[in-house]
Amino acid sequence: MSNYRMAEANSRIIPLEDKIFGISQKAKEMAAREGADKVVNATIGSLLDDNGKLVVLSSVVEVLKNLTPVDYADYAPIAGTPDFLKAIKKAIFGSYVPKGYTEALATPGGTGAIRNTIQNYSKRGDQVLTSDWYWSPYSTIAQEIERTITTYTLFDDAGNFNAASFESKVKELLSKQDGLVIILNTPAHNPTGYSFTLDDWQKIIAIVKDAVGEKKITLLVDVAYLDFAGDEEEYRKFFPLLDDLPANILVVIAASMSKTCTMYGMRCGAMICLTPDKEIADEFKTVCAFSCRGTWSNCNRAAMAALANIYADEALLAKVKEERRQYSEMLVRRGKTFAKSAEETGLKIVPFDAGFFATVPCENAEQVGLELQKEGIFTVPIGKGIRVSIASISEERCRMLPPAILRAIKKVNG
Ligand code: PLP
Repeated sequence: MSNYRMAEANSRIIPLEDKIFGISQKAKEMAAREGADKVVNATIGSLLDDNGKLVVLSSVVEVLKNLTPVDYADYAPIAGTPDFLKAIKKAIFGSYVPKGYTEALATPGGTGAIRNTIQNYSKRGDQVLTSDWYWSPYSTIAQEIERTITTYTLFDDAGNFNAASFESKVKELLSKQDGLVIILNTPAHNPTGYSFTLDDWQKIIAIVKDAVGEKKITLLVDVAYLDFAGDEEEYRKFFPLLDDLPANILVVIAASMSKTCTMYGMRCGAMICLTPDKEIADEFKTVCAFSCRGTWSNCNRAAMAALANIYADEALLAKVKEERRQYSEMLVRRGKTFAKSAEETGLKIVPFDAGFFATVPCENAEQVGLELQKEGIFTVPIGKGIRVSIASISEERCRMLPPAILRAIKKVNG
């Protein structure tokens, strides 16, 4: 029974306040009280420059300013404008040309793609699989549509991808369910910063091919951080491994323009399927368009027009990529600095490759988080550790944080 006066819980566990927002608010209050230089706000999930200002790609802003009134004001088709759908495939796949059939639909950010995939490729009451470290909105999205998240252990004791845990969870779930949605967030996973290696990918593919039998698996590949992991070609090398899957293993890529184009608030992204079967691709388009109509209807036309215009003009595209490359390199430098400082300090971190976040495993994460706040350092406790946003702090702060975190852990845990 629900404890709400008027609302219905509908099996959801709804916190009173968004945790990250609450901690970030405390950081802002302390900065206002004691000065910004006394506070390290490592909670924010957007890329900030060294002065704490949101990075906004000026080349993208220019494109937005040149849009027509119709681009801003008109409805977009339910599944997205044709030019956008062409552009987003290019933006995600880069030089890779999929062998199978691909269909795409616009969604409000990667979030919409995740929602629509869970809705259309699992049943009410099903469990959706992801790793034990995961972006908490996966659970919110699943609960909203009456599913739950269950996890495998991402790393083994040596800090490598735990293929055995992945395999046993896939098999266990397929023994109970007709199908399984598996969320893989790579490269530059949130919250750990881990990227699956090609070897990890080969293991994943072998396991799902072996386990699927007559059942159905959907591999939902969340590539929200694809353009901020490092070299664009290098980090797209896993795509060809997704060719040659049987028809009952569907790949859905959740694409986000939030980070890629620094358009977080414009709510634009896409879901793109990869399948060897044309009928399955057509069905994807039909069922997902139905979901779009029944939730947000259609997406932000101006954001779609901006991406389409960028991909229609080689010089413009080169400009956007160059500007993004510089910021991506800044982020990669910060990540390397954090990892190096952790190593020198003797602070254990969860295997990290790149991206917006790194995670420090620890006992009593909530207390460690509070201890850090006494020093003006704000991080996000996430159960088995604390998440540090590298994206929102300078390289210098990335260097000074590991010793402070180690001190706080020692103080709390002895
Ligand atoms: N997936 C992960 C792991 C994320 O961290 C985010 C954003 O923070 C998203 C997906 C989707 O973001 P958006 O809906 O803004 O595209």
